[in-house]
Amino acid sequence: MKLIKLLSKELIDKIAAGEVVVNGASVLKELLENSIDANSKNISVAVNNGGKTLIRVSDDGDGIYKEDIPNAILRNATSKIENDIDSIATLGFRGEALASISYVSKMTLITKTQSDDCATKIEVEANKIINTESVSGNKGTIIEVKDLFYNIPARYKHLKKDSAETSEIIDIAVQIALSHPEISFRLQCDSKEIFYTDGTGDIAKCISSLLGKNLINQLIKIDFEDQPLFVSGYISSPNFTGEKSSCRMIFLNGRVIKCDAVNKVVDSVYKEYYGKSGADFILYIRLPYAMIDVNIHPAKLEVKFLNESLVTMLIKQGIREVLKKNFILKEEPIYRSFDTKINAAENLVFEEAKNFIADKAEKVLPPIQNQTDLSDLTPFSTDTYHKEAHHIYKYEPDNDLLPQEKIDFPNQLNKEIFIRLVNMKYIGNAFGVYAMIEAGDELFAIDTHAAHERVLYDQYLMDFNNHTLSIQTLMVPVILDLSAKNYQLVLNNLNLFESLGFELDDFAHNSIAVRSMPYYLSDRDIQTILQKIIEEIGNFGTIGDVNKRSEKLIKAACHNAVRGSEDISEQETRALLKALYNTQMPFTCPHGRPVLGKLKISYFMKAFERI
Ligand code: ADP
Ligand code: MG
Repeated sequence: MKLIKLLSKELIDKIAAGEVVVNGASVLKELLENSIDANSKNISVAVNNGGKTLIRVSDDGDGIYKEDIPNAILRNATSKIENDIDSIATLGFRGEALASISYVSKMTLITKTQSDDCATKIEVEANKIINTESVSGNKGTIIEVKDLFYNIPARYKHLKKDSAETSEIIDIAVQIALSHPEISFRLQCDSKEIFYTDGTGDIAKCISSLLGKNLINQLIKIDFEDQPLFVSGYISSPNFTGEKSSCRMIFLNGRVIKCDAVNKVVDSVYKEYYGKSGADFILYIRLPYAMIDVNIHPAKLEVKFLNESLVTMLIKQGIREVLKKNFILKEEPIYRSFDTKINAAENLVFEEAKNFIADKAEKVLPPIQNQTDLSDLTPFSTDTYHKEAHHIYKYEPDNDLLPQEKIDFPNQLNKEIFIRLVNMKYIGNAFGVYAMIEAGDELFAIDTHAAHERVLYDQYLMDFNNHTLSIQTLMVPVILDLSAKNYQLVLNNLNLFESLGFELDDFAHNSIAVRSMPYYLSDRDIQTILQKIIEEIGNFGTIGDVNKRSEKLIKAACHNAVRGSEDISEQETRALLKALYNTQMPFTCPHGRPVLGKLKISYFMKAFERI
């Protein structure tokens, strides 16, 4: 008995149509991709009832030659690939969309190429041309899709409410319009204009038209290249207050894609600088077509980078550099807690205090400046702290460090801020750890502990990498008593300790003699530092990379080597700021905690109801 039969062509077409067309949004995606592939400059879309009754896409692209028109709606018929799919430069290549769409709807196509005298119009029902005529029209193509799934009731039933289908259509249209800022897009739903982009190629303008006018101010611009990779776009600032639902868009050579590997590297870099992942971003990635495989997903949504680890590594490095250069401070978190956390009893006390302080403040507060003009502020004399700072951080004062250009104040900061702050008014040290500096209409706080840690870490790591660590020999060795396990651990890692500047000897059963230590750590608590390093080594297990191990150990050593900050003087604070400027990443400690914070004068003015 024979059970296996060949499917009829009709059934094959029906199954294939179902893969490409699931709703109005999927029809629109295919039609827009075709218009883009046809080199259109202007594309406009009209949709009614969430695409159920009408989807019309009009473009001013190349059009379709008269002879080609019947082929355009055949399955597996395409003008876009010749022999192989190794290097696909167009959005479409499967030759399936028009066949599938025309199979499940009533479709009209009007098209005219540059060389045609007039346009040709065809009407198609269930993939059969039922009428052909010549009509007047401009160069380009108009495709109208009516009565979606009129011949497949089971599919029609699965469509959502008009409003839900409309919202999917808007999502797709927004993404595709963003993917090509150099093309002008217009979308109308039920005769209402939803958006318009001007097609000038200006990404910022395009984002404003599609995602909201104010959004762009809360984004950090990304732009870098590392041949053959080009990346541009935007990533949200840590103070982003936009909609909660995350917006992450990746465009690869103009194609909207999803890519977990890219999401992951962006998350990991963002976390390094801002302690959290989940930033929103819009990334335009360009790579040679031969480095990408787009044929791994039926809707061409996912792609495979042929050398994924290299590509993601380059993206990671690039974004890290961008975030480092444009570090943004998290703003005024205290003000929010002022609004929400004060209970009734506290409020009474607070009211009293406010009145009292407002009264006093009248006499001392400067008027609000609308714009911070740093050039108006008289710099402090720098002579005094140079002398003392010299032996604290061993830096040589060099005046040419002061940058000439003005910093992008106040939201987007680069490390020049540290040099500026060196010359601003030192207010004092709050709570034993936060050095306060007034600059224009802002009050900056420096976490001196975190700052010390960064400076120490950078110096230590640099000398370690250059093999220039200076070692301090101890006159009297320090004896460390250890548990049996840690004693063995130290004995097994004597070389590792030596590379970090610690010369250790087996002293007696379960104790170790420390003969020398790194110069940086010489007046610090050697016991705690070594305990911490031993603990880290115990945790290693999986880290194989020797350099990563050493970095981790140096981080641990520095964290524990920072001395109490209570006694940090004005001069030391200024020296610290300058030393920070010379580090790789002055805005955070090696563990990613912030070094710098600020409050605007408006914070005080609001708190004390002066505005
Ligand atoms: P694919 O895009 O994979 O080639 P489609 O079924 O989407 O397959 O389109 C079939 C062919 O019809 C395309 O290869 C192209 O030649 C032509 N075509 C479709 N839409 C347009 C358009 N808007 N402008 C010009 N040509 C088009
Ligand atoms: Mg196509």
